[in-house]
Amino acid sequence: KYFNMLQDLRGNIRVFCRVRPLLPFEIKKGYSECITFPVEGSMLIKDDKDQQLKFDFDQVYTPQTSQEKVSEDTTEYVQSVMDGYNVSIFAYGQTGSGKTYTMNGPPENPGVNLRALKNLFKLAQDRKPMFEYEIKVSIFEIYNEEVRDLLSGIEKGKKKKKDEKPAKKEKLQHKILHLPDGSVEVTNLNWIYVETDQDVVELDDVAKANRTAGVTDMNAHSSRSHMLLVVDVKGFNVPANIEYIGKLYLVDLAGSERVKKSGATGQALLEAQNINQSLSALGNCMQALQQKKFVPYRDSTLTDIMTNALGGNAKTVMFINCCPTAEHAFETVSSLKFAERVG
Ligand code: ADP
Ligand code: MG
Repeated sequence: KYFNMLQDLRGNIRVFCRVRPLLPFEIKKGYSECITFPVEGSMLIKDDKDQQLKFDFDQVYTPQTSQEKVSEDTTEYVQSVMDGYNVSIFAYGQTGSGKTYTMNGPPENPGVNLRALKNLFKLAQDRKPMFEYEIKVSIFEIYNEEVRDLLSGIEKGKKKKKDEKPAKKEKLQHKILHLPDGSVEVTNLNWIYVETDQDVVELDDVAKANRTAGVTDMNAHSSRSHMLLVVDVKGFNVPANIEYIGKLYLVDLAGSERVKKSGATGQALLEAQNINQSLSALGNCMQALQQKKFVPYRDSTLTDIMTNALGGNAKTVMFINCCPTAEHAFETVSSLKFAERVG
């Protein structure tokens, strides 16, 4: 109870800042690091005007921090989904700063997403027979404010068989419904029940294949769309005979770099405007929550879908991913300022 009180006083948003290591090509080019770590929870960055700026966050991760440690720090939030809380975990930062590494990670060293699901599966086991759980996931992206299902081609409620080709895709429209009970639903999304790590890995592969389909430049595309893995947990407290729902939103955001609107035309301009719009909508919603003001959820598809995962009893972890190099200092400082605004 005391712990809950402390939680309330600190609010429900945590900001964890992660600085990635120099990449081999950056070392080769002789790039240097512009960020130092004087004490725990703090970082110093030399900006593009050679000024030292200090930032403090709930956690600050140096380039040496492991995937285990980073994921571990999300554990208490992830686990509360099993008690009926809604939780959102975001990765925010410019393209190349380590968002996908943090959330997805390479197969041999997975990130927050897979470790979070492992955690839920383990807890479901440990809590038997007092509790029963049903866990299902959907994976989709938001591109130009529209939802694109990345688990299409899988029959509802069924796992994809090995070697099975994705079914012919009829283009489904996804609408965002606000239901009378206050919940928000995206129509026509595939939800797949999962029980093991392997299930999740398989679905992730399907999502990757679907994401690449029909996209000419995958790198450019992935930096311009938000990628969501949504975990829906139905819990049943057996002795109390009570059923409840918790939701976990794992979000790899579009790159935060400001695409210059001047000069951009057509599709590029539209993309830039949509990313700017949805990231600032997210920032505005989180700031409004902190200041207990009206929250403009409907200002973007992302915040609209996540209405119940931001604010109220919901808990949020915002990873701010940073490049270590002076070359990127301007964008890094802008990410850190975003973090200060929402945290
Ligand atoms: P983003 O998704 O923000 O565009 P990525 O996650 O793709 O960035 O990371 C860019 C590059 O940096 C990738 O090659 C990735 O493997 C590497 N990288 C990012 N974070 C780390 C880290 N913490 N440790 C090692 N390599 C990292
Ligand atoms: Mg990425």
